[in-house]
Amino acid sequence: MINMPRGTQDILPLEAKKWQYVENMLRKISNNFCYDEIRTPIFESTELFARGVGDTTDIVQKEMYTFLDKSNRSLTLRPEGTAGTVRSYIENKLFAEVIKPQKLFYIGPMFRYERKQKGRYRQFVQYGVEVIGEESPKIDAEVISLAYNIYRSFGLENIKVSINSLGNPEERKAYNEALVKHFEPSIDEFCSDCKNRLYKNPMRILDCKIDAGHKLMKTAPKLLDFLGQESKNYFDEVLKHLDSLEVKYEIDHNLVRGLDYYTHTAFEIMIDNKEVELKTLCGGGRYNGLVEMLGGPAGEKGIGFALSIERLLLALETENISLPLEDNIDIFVVSMGEEAGNYAVKLTNDLRLAGFKVQNDYFDKKMKAQLKLADRYKASFTIIIGEQELEEKELVVKNMANFTQDRVAINEVIKYLEERIKGE
Ligand code: ATP
Ligand code: MG
Repeated sequence: MINMPRGTQDILPLEAKKWQYVENMLRKISNNFCYDEIRTPIFESTELFARGVGDTTDIVQKEMYTFLDKSNRSLTLRPEGTAGTVRSYIENKLFAEVIKPQKLFYIGPMFRYERKQKGRYRQFVQYGVEVIGEESPKIDAEVISLAYNIYRSFGLENIKVSINSLGNPEERKAYNEALVKHFEPSIDEFCSDCKNRLYKNPMRILDCKIDAGHKLMKTAPKLLDFLGQESKNYFDEVLKHLDSLEVKYEIDHNLVRGLDYYTHTAFEIMIDNKEVELKTLCGGGRYNGLVEMLGGPAGEKGIGFALSIERLLLALETENISLPLEDNIDIFVVSMGEEAGNYAVKLTNDLRLAGFKVQNDYFDKKMKAQLKLADRYKASFTIIIGEQELEEKELVVKNMANFTQDRVAINEVIKYLEERIKGE
């Protein structure tokens, strides 16, 4: 037997209902916030991610599924959604649209070669948004509020937003120099990744999972102290809007992203539950330098976030929140005798086309077995057809909730059910 690849999962029908519910909800909220869907390819040129995600990131260094196609092009299964979205924004000249900024969202599979863990897969589904074109603290606050309220709308209360400002590239340069000074004397006490990061990308030391407990982490210089007045004002504005939008947040000085095109706001949404190992549900931030870095016009600013549906579902599970899933059907058609059985096929089809969720028995089972099946399907109504009903052109319609039943003329049955099921 051939098994599924490590780090992937089969989503079986019962679980798929949860996914559908979550995806529908994400689409609905996106729509209310006026974000439109964009669908980009699942594989892109490897070069796009090397540049767009960054050569020094774990994603590019360790986690990409890269392959040569039959014409020796290097392609990569997308590990995240921002690079492809920004590429598409540039390639399709969305910057020339009348409405700016463009407010986009995506839902789709991403691929990373990672160590498998609960809530960490090699194929996982991200929902994300990107707001590209113009910049305003109001946009940053809207994006964070969207992410926050996605979790709230599923009933998750124990969440918090961690937020920081990364300022602009010059401010970060000064900060990076201060970090090198801070860590350099004791760098031997850190992991090999951190040693490599010290000169290449010192801010990423603050993000290290292995050395998170080291005493120098707590005493490290704070980026906020290196921000100029303009950056400080921008950050204050964002926070002011978050207050008025009633988004609960905490400033986290160690929340950093090392790449040059990240500017100003960076945030994460975490679950506040000790039992959950992977607490980060969602990450995002402003990337004012990215469009230009990928070959687009200068001055196009952007902000976005991404979350995975896997971790959202895991969070719901650990918080004991169940989704209101529909697991019943409207009608089960029971028939007795060959002629009635054939008619049941036609009636089932007619009722389905009239908009009801309907099942019948395919195998001319005994009445009792068919009623049992109706029960398993959790049918709200059962229609019973025998030879006599066919002759009299009347069907027995049973309401399974209160066990009442009516005889209904065949040509009245759709109307009868519409009144009772759709409330028409
Ligand atoms: P982590 O620190 O958990 O590796 P990350 O920094 O790599 O996360 P991002 O690239 O910011 O994550 O992706 C945004 C979100 O996507 C994360 O907050 C997380 O919820 C989710 N995510 C990332 N990698 C995976 C994965 N391998 N499986 C499932 N969800 C993931
Ligand atoms: Mg990761």
